[in-house]
Amino acid sequence: MTTILHNLQQVQERIAQACTHAQRDHHSVALLAVSKTFGPQAVHEAALAGQRAFGENYIQEAIEKITALKQLQLQLQLQLPLQWHCIGPVQSNKTRLVAEHFDWVHTIDRLKTAQRLSDQRPAHLPPLQVCIQVNVDGSASKSGVAPEEAMALAQGVAQLPQLQLRGLMAIPEFAPEFVAQYASHIRARAIFDHIKASEGIDKTLWDTLSLGMTADLEPAIAAGSTLVRVGSGIFGGRHYLTGMPSS
Ligand SMILES: *Cc1c(COP(=O)(O)O)cnc(C)c1O
Repeated sequence: MTTILHNLQQVQERIAQACTHAQRDHHSVALLAVSKTFGPQAVHEAALAGQRAFGENYIQEAIEKITALKQLQLQLQLQLPLQWHCIGPVQSNKTRLVAEHFDWVHTIDRLKTAQRLSDQRPAHLPPLQVCIQVNVDGSASKSGVAPEEAMALAQGVAQLPQLQLRGLMAIPEFAPEFVAQYASHIRARAIFDHIKASEGIDKTLWDTLSLGMTADLEPAIAAGSTLVRVGSGIFGGRHYLTGMPSS
């Protein structure tokens, strides 16, 4: 068995166990495989193992990979429809590329960016699926809208014609203790519920709480995550310099 297949099965098992502990349906949590820094071959391997949704942080790297995967599938006469999620910051000068190549964007934290994505979404593609990124810890270094501004932003984004607002994303600061990590995930969950109940939000679309990574998917699922973003748990340790051994 390949390592990626084996790792995927282990992560699925962790998700299933976390759902059992939280008394949640195993199908209520989806897995986003974060493939940043890994090449097309790794994505292809995960796709052969049944994984369809992939997360990328760097736009240029992602577009090269998306193109390579299309070509590879053409060559092999395979049709494994992949779904690409942008989980990195989107600068204004990158919105067109994102609107043209991705299916989802998790990192909306300004109305201006959302407006550009909506304007630039090609008409032949379905609406771009988006989440608002909320900075639950209020840490100055991290992107994301402040919790008290999240609702107004959501209401603005919900009106944009070529976007569909699906929910929230957060990257809480890492805490080694389950209880502390759960507490920060629960803050995201509370904002998620609060916005869902507010006016101007399509409740049938508002179904995604993108929360939890390799190290903290259990407390995230306990807090209500519907989409965990797992990178190293599937593909192994990341190393940015070529030729460096992976840790
Ligand atoms: C890299 C990254 C992940 C995956 O992190 P792992 O710890 O490797 O699972 C998840 N979400 C975001 C936003 C990331 O940048």
